[in-house]
Parts: sequence; structure tokens; C-alpha cells
Amino acid sequence: ATPAEEKDLVIIGGGVAGYVAAIKAGQEGLKVACIEKRGSLGGTCLNVGCIPSKSLLNNSHLYHQILHDTKNRGIEVGEVKLNLEQMMKAKETSVSGLTKGIEYLFKKNNVEYFKGTGAFADEHTVAVNLTEGGETSVRGKNIIIATGSESTPFPGLTIDEKKVITSTGAIALKEVPKKMVVIGGGIIGLEMGSVWSRLGSEVTVVEFLGQIGGPGMDAEISKNIQKTLGKQGMKFKLNTKVVSGDDSGETVKLEVEAAKGGKAETLDADVVLVAIGRRPYTQGLGLENIGLETDNRGRLVIDSEYRTKIPHIRVIGDCTFGPMLAHKAEEEAVAAIEYITKNYGHVNYNAIPSVMYTHPEVAWVGQNEAELKEQGVKYKVGTFPFSANSRAKTNLDTDGLVKFLADAETDRILGIHIVGPNAGEMIAEGTLALEYGASTEDVGRTSHAHPTLAEAFKEAAMATYGKAIHY
Ligand code: FAD
Ligand code: NAD
Repeated sequence: ATPAEEKDLVIIGGGVAGYVAAIKAGQEGLKVACIEKRGSLGGTCLNVGCIPSKSLLNNSHLYHQILHDTKNRGIEVGEVKLNLEQMMKAKETSVSGLTKGIEYLFKKNNVEYFKGTGAFADEHTVAVNLTEGGETSVRGKNIIIATGSESTPFPGLTIDEKKVITSTGAIALKEVPKKMVVIGGGIIGLEMGSVWSRLGSEVTVVEFLGQIGGPGMDAEISKNIQKTLGKQGMKFKLNTKVVSGDDSGETVKLEVEAAKGGKAETLDADVVLVAIGRRPYTQGLGLENIGLETDNRGRLVIDSEYRTKIPHIRVIGDCTFGPMLAHKAEEEAVAAIEYITKNYGHVNYNAIPSVMYTHPEVAWVGQNEAELKEQGVKYKVGTFPFSANSRAKTNLDTDGLVKFLADAETDRILGIHIVGPNAGEMIAEGTLALEYGASTEDVGRTSHAHPTLAEAFKEAAMATYGKAIHY
């Protein structure tokens, strides 16, 4: 065999973590290779996650709005029909445009792209099982593992991506199911549940905990969005666990009961979406060949500079600690490369925003009330409802509120929680404020254009240290 080619950096996984690291490394002048097995770059996010789900969320929202929310706006439409095949094509166009864009960026930044599955042969050598057939290997002075995550299966149900689906099936259904049951009322459950509910499915969400939204969402915000999603037609069974499932028939039957034990009932669905979280993916990586282990949740263990116990092997993104979010993976990718080339890097884990792209959107950054209470922090609260915001009123889109949590003594912002139109864009301002260590008065004394939704943000800040004007 020919000796393996030597690179400054070899990256296993071409998802958001891996491809951003590869581009950054190329920009820094490193000789870099990136190995990806799926046949296209961008990972979960671009191929089966963030991007396709947002395409369907946007277009299903338009469809739903045209069906139910035009007359009062003075728009009379004729017959409205769903063309699901075309909606899926629109999604595919967004996905392929973006994934091909990354291939272009690889070329531009001199990143060598290996299509295949990478596995450690030794601490510096990655064997690549090529997609086209055959094998090769590549050596790296440094190696980054960025192999991402996969959806957590539900015991007793077999995923066929048709009747029992994960998010991957949920972005590709060929027809609108009459009845859909979602196991898990986290971000995936609520986003994909929204899509199919808007397109006409009867959607019931079964959630083990007493609130929806998954980890981190503020309880008051969670209640607020639950009410709105309920008005849109979604049904919720909280404090409820699925005891067993039977997918042998034409429909799927789920046995559910109160989480603390109690009344059992059977739910019947044409499609069951399993959305109970994701778990790190490190299968077939050959970790045993280099003596690297994962923790009890499958995460690769690293230090604050992303190094494993083998210091030239680093780990970033979903397969290690922290929230499983694309923008978190991206920050880590840049920082990891800077640690390699400059010995410093920066990611502020207290200021990573979360966004749920339902309508209205939910977005937050920093801590929620329950977390502050648990830490015994004295805090004050300021809120402002979109029903008192002029732009939301002109848009006839007034559900939701902005909520600030700030240190009771110093006024420093500790958390910002929004449910409302465009919350996902608005939280960028909140994240910047948190990153800069702003007080609510800093935000409240900053001019915000009129009439904008962002004025609700300013006025919620004003309500935290003083009084809002319009409420
Ligand atoms: P991944 O994107 O999973 O990439 C890992 C890549 O490594 C994969 O392409 C895989 O094929 C490859 N790989 C694995 N093992 C090997 C190997 N041995 N050899 C070669 N290649 C390998 N996050 C957000 O921030 N915003 C959102 O709106 C959002 N929406 C989402 C919607 C859905 C339906 C899902 C499922 C996720 C969503 N996420 C969202 C989460 C986001 O997709 C992930 O946090 C992000 O993709 C993590 O990036 P990553 O590079 O760590 O992993
Ligand atoms: P999640 O952790 O957000 O939510 C899972 C939910 O399922 C939780 O509320 C949990 O209490 C519940 N649950 C767990 N086991 C259960 C059971 N047996 N029965 C009933 N309920 C149960 O996970 P997810 O929604 O699957 O999303 C996975 C990951 O993907 C998350 O880390 C999320 O951040 C990421 N993601 C992000 C976005 C976004 O940023 N917009 C979109 C989609 C996915």
C-alpha cells in the first residue's frame, strides 16, 4: 500500500461542526482534509435538519395563513390546494443549493474532501472506506472528530420512516397523515408537529414532563406557546408517558398513562413521530483502536480546549457536551481551529441562543426563572406583550411577549425569553446584550426604530428597571 498522505488536520464528519472547521482551517493556511460518508456536505443540519424543516415550516405557515387568515385582511382567495410534492421539491431546492455551496467553499479554501467513512487506524491515521468502493487512508498531525448525533430510538417501536418516523421521515412524508401522534414535546416534536398540523393532520403531542418545549424553555413562555399552538389545533397530553407501542397493524397503537402511574389509554395513529431527543453518534469510528471512550450518555469527553486525552485529537459539535445546535457547533469549530493555530479560542456557553421556529417563534438566551431560583439568585422581571406593540398590531399578529430577567441589584441581564413573531431574529439583539454584559437600562435607553417588533424588546427592558410607555 502507498503510505498515507500527511495533513496538518484531518476532520471526520462534514456536518456544521466539521465543514466550518475545514473552511476555517483552510483560511488559516492548514493542509486539511474532511471525510464525510453521507454523499453530501452539511450534515444533519443542511440535509435532514435545520434547513429542510425550516423550508416546510415556512411554506406550511403560508398555506395555513392563506386558508385561515386572509379574509379579515381584505384578501379574498379562490380555491386553495396543497401540492405536497411541490412543497417537498421547494425544500429539496433549498437543501441542494446550500450543500453544493459548501462543496464550492471547500474548493475555494483548499479543503480536500474524501467521500467515505472514516475510522481510526491509529492515533494519527484515519482509514477511509470510500463510497465509490475501495479504501485509502490519511494521516493528520491533528484530528477533529465531528460525527454528530442521531435520533434516540423508542424501545418497542421500529423506525421505518413511514409509519413510525423520526424527524428524517417527518420532512419527507408523501401524504398528510390523518392522525399523527408525536412522542416528545421538545423542539422537533413541536416544529414538525406544527408542519403536519397546518397541512391538515390531527396532531397529538405526548410529553413526559409537565411542560412542552424541551430543556431550557422558561415555564411561563412554554405555557404561552402551548395555548397558541392549541388554538392552531394541536392537542397535548402532558405528564404522560408512552408505556408500549404496537406497530404491527395498519395503524400504530400506543399505550399511554399518567407519568406518575394511573389511568391508561390507547392512542391510535396513522403516523407516530418519535422525538424524544438525540444522542451522540460515534459508531464505527474505531475509538477502541486508540483507547478513547464515551461517557454514560455516549459523549466523547474533552477539556475546555476540545482536546481528548490524546491531545492532538479534538471533538466538537453534537457528539460532545453542550446543546445540540448548529450555531453552537459552528462556534466550537472556529474556536478549535484557533486553539490549533493560535493557542486561544472563545465560546461563551452562557450566551448561545435557542430558537423554536413555530408560529409564533420562541427564542431565548441565558437563564430561565427556574434556573435562577435553583441557584438562589435574586432577580427582577420585566415583560411586554406583543398585543401592545404597534407593528404586531398592524400585522394582526399579536400573540406572545418579551421577558427580561435581570440581577435584582446590578440590573445586569441574566436571561431573555421571547414568544412572538420574529422572536428568532430578535434574540440576536438579546444575545449581543448578554455577551457585552449589558444591563436592561442599556437596552431600554437604546433607540429602536418605530414601528418595529423590536420596540417590544426595548419596552420589556424598560419595564425591568422602570416602566414601559405603552403598557
Ligand atoms: P451533524 O450535522 O450530525 O454532522 C455529522 C456528520 O458526520 C454527518 O453528516 C455524518 O454523516 C458524518 N459522519 C459520522 N460518522 C462518520 C464517519 N465515521 N466518517 C465520515 N463521516 C461521518 N439546530 C439549530 O441550531 N437550528 C435548527 O433549526 C435546527 N433544526 C434541526 C431540525 C432537525 C429535524 C434536527 C434533527 C436537528 C436540528 N438542529 C438544529 C440540530 C443541528 O442539526 C445539529 O446541532 C447540527 O447538525 C450538529 O452539527 P454536527 O456537525 O455536530 O453534526
Ligand atoms: P428535546 O430534548 O428538545 O425534546 C425531547 C422531549 O421529549 C423532552 O421534552 C422530553 O421531556 C420528552 N421525552 C423524552 N422521553 C420521553 C418519553 N419516553 N415520552 C414522552 N416524552 C418524552 O429533543 P428533540 O426535540 O428530539 O430534539 C433533539 C435535538 O435537536 C435537540 O437538542 C434540539 O436542540 C435539536 N433541534 C433544534 C432545533 C432548533 O434549534 N430549532 C430544531 C430541531 C432540533
